Amino acid sequence: MTINSAQILEELRELEKSSRLLDPDQSIRKNWLKQVDEYVTGFLSDLPNNKAYNKDHSPIDAIEEFDIADNGASLNQLLALCKKSIDGVGINPASGGHMGYIPGGGVYPSALGDYLAAVSNRYAGIFYAAPGAVKLENMLIKWMCRLMGFPENAAGNLTSGGSISNLIAIVTARDAAKVKARDFDKLVIYISEQAHHSIQKAIRIAGLSEAVIRYIPLDTQLRMSVEELENMICEDESNGLIPFLINASLGTTNTGAIDPINEIADSAEKHRLWFHVDAAYGGFFKLLPEMKEAFEGINRASSITLDPHKTLFLPFGTGAVLVKDVKSVYQSHHYLADYMQDTTNSQEEISPADVSPELTKHFRGLRLWFPLKLFGLEPFRAALKEKLLLCRYFYNEVQQIPNIEVGPAPELSVAMFRFLPEDSDPNEFNQKLINEIQSDGTVFLSSTTINDVFWIRVAVVLFRTHLGHIEYLLEDLKNRLA
Ligand SMILES: *Cc1c(COP(=O)(O)O)cnc(C)c1O
Repeated sequence: MTINSAQILEELRELEKSSRLLDPDQSIRKNWLKQVDEYVTGFLSDLPNNKAYNKDHSPIDAIEEFDIADNGASLNQLLALCKKSIDGVGINPASGGHMGYIPGGGVYPSALGDYLAAVSNRYAGIFYAAPGAVKLENMLIKWMCRLMGFPENAAGNLTSGGSISNLIAIVTARDAAKVKARDFDKLVIYISEQAHHSIQKAIRIAGLSEAVIRYIPLDTQLRMSVEELENMICEDESNGLIPFLINASLGTTNTGAIDPINEIADSAEKHRLWFHVDAAYGGFFKLLPEMKEAFEGINRASSITLDPHKTLFLPFGTGAVLVKDVKSVYQSHHYLADYMQDTTNSQEEISPADVSPELTKHFRGLRLWFPLKLFGLEPFRAALKEKLLLCRYFYNEVQQIPNIEVGPAPELSVAMFRFLPEDSDPNEFNQKLINEIQSDGTVFLSSTTINDVFWIRVAVVLFRTHLGHIEYLLEDLKNRLA
């Protein structure tokens, strides 16, 4: 079929009418923004009265009525669905009562940054396309490098979260080891039982599932034993294996234990191993001068994972990785496709696409930069210190309840406790107790099992968690255990 220009023009006029609906005018935009703002205002002002957890999943069924169709719907309808079926179900991550797992954040200016990033849609993967956006992200990376004592010319990337950060670090470490795939089964990786599971996942995704993983025994505080680590490395070396990577946790997810970073760095240097510090949970406590000791030696790491969506209180979808050796991370991740030949002209700044698996990416810099600049660092420091003290306070006070046993004194902001009943199985009892707390949902806690012992965890990480929540929790526990 041939189609002449007159026919094309006629069809184009029709299509343009319809396609322009994708670019609504100012009055529609203002109206939508107003509706979203009303929703947000209601959501935030209801937070203190709403539960941290709703176990009932039935409201999600209504989502099916909103499957994708040819015709548009009204924003009001969509927001009503959000309220009922999304924001009213499961864990409410914005609630100060959320103290399970590792809670996230969601400081408001990040939403404004995301709004701007979505509207202007700067192409933040490549310096050539968005020099300002990339420079801004690199400035944030440099700030994190300074904070961790890394040289400013280290490389880094704002990732979508700690898991991808760990993956980037492990892939880089693998390539830097310069070992052929046929020898992967001789590679040895040292981690502790308390390492986050994203490390094992990254090892598998990096094609290293044949590598030997050594789980270093823990001390009574659940920290990696450096003596055991050193012994294992020596033994593996003398057996012809190829030790190449140590992963330490600066704040385990489970208990907030901090592995002895400085001493592990000694071993890593002595044996020339890649030393990765997974500080996804604990990293930003470095903002507190009093935490200096715990962080000693972190500047000696080869790479560090941070998670601004945890202890920098950002919304989910913001992680970071820092890698000291720019060349290594670049060699593992850069690629130049033919169609991208124009992009190499400028090398003023390293491009995110050269140091991560992503090409096109969300411009995450704004959601980080807006809150950091609008608030300044002081309120972040105050909130971090507050979290440490709240956790300490809980740990002290919960011991006033008869028959409560606690885990190790919290190094960060996670505490563990359990109730020891006089005449029934403690694991069963505490399982029941956590079920009751979750069914109620006013606060949300989670549990863990360490050496077959069932513990209930309190993780104070949310910027909205304050003394009132901890007092409520203590009172609630007292009542339940009376
Ligand atoms: C949360 C966490 C991760 C994983 O990060 P995501 O942002 O959830 O992908 C990795 N390591 C530790 C220690 C964590 O606490």
